[in-house]
Amino acid sequence: MIRRIFDAALTSSRCYSDLRHLCKNIPPRLSGSEGAAKAVAFTQSVFETENFDRVFLQEMLVPNWKRGNKCSVTIQSKTAKRELKACALGGSVGGAADGDIIAVRSLEQLDSLGKKYVEGKIVFFSRPMEPRHIHTFEAYGGCVDQRWAGPSKAAKYGAKATLVRSMNLREDEFPHTGSMSYDSAWPKIPALAISTEDATWLLQQLQSQQGIRASIYTNCETRPDTLSHNVVGELRGSLFPEQFIICGGHLDAWDNGEGAHDDGAGCVQSMEALRILKNIGYKPRHTLRAVMFMNEENGARGAKRYAAWADSLKEKHIYAMESDRGGFSPRGFAIDSEDAAVVEKIAGFRKLLEPYGLHDFKKGGGGVDIGPLKKQGAVCIGLVPDSQRYFDHHHAANDIFEHVNKRELELGAAAMAALIYLLDQQN
Ligand SMILES: [Zn+2]
Repeated sequence: MIRRIFDAALTSSRCYSDLRHLCKNIPPRLSGSEGAAKAVAFTQSVFETENFDRVFLQEMLVPNWKRGNKCSVTIQSKTAKRELKACALGGSVGGAADGDIIAVRSLEQLDSLGKKYVEGKIVFFSRPMEPRHIHTFEAYGGCVDQRWAGPSKAAKYGAKATLVRSMNLREDEFPHTGSMSYDSAWPKIPALAISTEDATWLLQQLQSQQGIRASIYTNCETRPDTLSHNVVGELRGSLFPEQFIICGGHLDAWDNGEGAHDDGAGCVQSMEALRILKNIGYKPRHTLRAVMFMNEENGARGAKRYAAWADSLKEKHIYAMESDRGGFSPRGFAIDSEDAAVVEKIAGFRKLLEPYGLHDFKKGGGGVDIGPLKKQGAVCIGLVPDSQRYFDHHHAANDIFEHVNKRELELGAAAMAALIYLLDQQN
């Protein structure tokens, strides 16, 4: 059965062409945008074309933040003037700021400097991702507090705006956006990311001379919440139709790229996993669903909506799987369960899956979109692909279709289908 699943994925998959459509024929699909609505309609039509047993939408309101068309960061030192490659962080207010820059390595350092040093300044969060981590998500986790909480922390001490070094292990010219959160206790100030190349240059300037100034402008804005949807495709279970095994990815993506790895890949793999099982004639015992979650990037409203929906209908979700770490070669699965026996049982599938390159089975995080289902007892499972190149593209203008490899994408879809099959065979 596993052989048949991989054969189907590698010879007759549609996930690569679905990804091309999502990336190339639909505008950027940040929550609330025209592209997001088109992505909902497209994935719904794929499920319908493939004759899934049931296809439905779950309605909700989502944030509607717009980047605007202007964003600039100009650095003026005694010896140089330079325009930096910058982008607003998702959720940032628009505005202009002018002032001296100070670099800090951490939120704690900002606390220790306090109002005396920070007031009236532009704060530059300069700590790079730690390159010594083998798993790059650990490097991301060790850095992202600067992006998420930095702006309000700086505003607390009177800063005018913040810059953050992009969350990228590579030195290049792409600024990487991502979500941030304002603390309502402090003024909202513009928050931007700059490319890693520019961040390294700026830090060198600040270390070698004084009185470096920045001028910042961005015209992003937050509009009223907008109606949007999760998209669900379902294959009905033959023995336990009231018990669910789901897989999914998030349909929304940051607006500066095509959202190919994040998370177009996870969406098309999830659709493909169920399509493969259906097309090889497999009759699932439990009800299987592929869920296209909306609004993972800046609110996770789709995740909350799906879990609340499941609760209200008393649907029992036994396993929830997510692909949201890029469309790279799959290596295994992260299993989010406090029950060691459950982790051990799923890790026990390694011997069946190792011939297909899947060897990494560990306790770990399942994913943002399936997380809320854990409360009702679902075992959450994250597809774990190779992570070395993910942050080269994450939330940046180079997260485009051309950077997804067809075979790697298909192997991920097959890995998901294979594990769904194995889980479906359990009681
Ligand atoms: Zn994502």
